[in-house]
Amino acid sequence: MSAKSIQTTLVHSDYVAPAGFDAFPPATHRASTVLFANTATMRASQWKDKTAYTYGLHGTPTTFTLEGKLAEIEGGNHCLLTPSGLAAIAMVDFALLKSGDDVLLPENVYNPNRELGRWLSADFGVTARYYDPMIGAGIAALIQPNTKLLWAEAPGSVSMEVPDLPALCHAAHERGVLVALDNTWSAGLALRGFDLGADIVMHALTKYQSGGADLLMGAVITRDRALNDRLALAHMRLGLGVSPDDAYLVQRGLPTMKMRFERHDASARELAAWFKARPEIAKVLHPAFEDCPGHAFWQRDFTGAGGLFSVVFDARFDEAQVDCMVDALTLFGIGYSWGGPNSLVMPYRINSLRDQWEGGVLVRFNVGLEDPADLIADLARAFNAL
Ligand SMILES: *Cc1c(COP(=O)(O)O)cnc(C)c1O
Repeated sequence: MSAKSIQTTLVHSDYVAPAGFDAFPPATHRASTVLFANTATMRASQWKDKTAYTYGLHGTPTTFTLEGKLAEIEGGNHCLLTPSGLAAIAMVDFALLKSGDDVLLPENVYNPNRELGRWLSADFGVTARYYDPMIGAGIAALIQPNTKLLWAEAPGSVSMEVPDLPALCHAAHERGVLVALDNTWSAGLALRGFDLGADIVMHALTKYQSGGADLLMGAVITRDRALNDRLALAHMRLGLGVSPDDAYLVQRGLPTMKMRFERHDASARELAAWFKARPEIAKVLHPAFEDCPGHAFWQRDFTGAGGLFSVVFDARFDEAQVDCMVDALTLFGIGYSWGGPNSLVMPYRINSLRDQWEGGVLVRFNVGLEDPADLIADLARAFNAL
């Protein structure tokens, strides 16, 4: 019997569950406060050093386990989790850029990244400049003495142009510029970013890693310890903690990620081939198809494609007609993102993303895990609404 008052017992019960529980799913550790065995341990513990725990914001076994797995999948050594993919992008920028610096972004970059560049330019004394993603080795001419960072996205997630990543990395490294790759499209499965020269690989885990369309998270992976430490400092200063429950859900999605990715890939190619044969479609922007700018780089550098691609309608169809087709779809939800079980569709005003772009209305498809025959039947029906 405890001599404690009931109020204290409500907080400090004497019962301790037996030790030795084992199961495949890792435990989900939830904590703000992390307890130290004594003051000496507390004083010796470093938030930066993942051999110890200091505070929930700086990591728990749950987040460290996920970080370790993601680094291994990507072929990196270090990983930091952020509350969204966009937070991962912002952390990279705030860690590596200061007033007076210059950053280069592809014109077709994930639009919120472009928006962040505008903000850095307007209010933080950093210049953000945008390059033609197909520029390749020509990027060298754009690099200035104050250029510190080059973002690449392979492929751009709307225009689907595949850049010559090794050429970009080579030109950047010759001039001491770090390369950050947004590798979300390939989930780290179909493109080995570090092997092609990237210094930093960023992911929106929101997409394939989660696989459930039910959470937001990002990751920044590096090979170099000193670079990771610069990023970790920004991670700490900005307070970019993630929910352990969400980290658990991401790790729960990982064992099936490759099989899901391959299923998305096979279905997307089936749909892309269907579009290719339709007279209403001017171009199929799928990296595995010849219409797609950079198709040869995809063939050289990638081992797969996933579920995301775009099509450009023939110029005789205006936006209102294409919107009617999109609205007539029943198996494709109208919405952003990808990597979940449900197929999605989104019309884009491509001129607002890519400075010099000709042609008709662009529609992006995220092919989910439905039977592709049903998706094609839905598309065929909706095309009558054009
Ligand atoms: C979704 C996405 C992001 C941002 O991820 P969020 O978790 O939605 O913030 C960044 N880059 C690309 C290419 C994406 O598709």
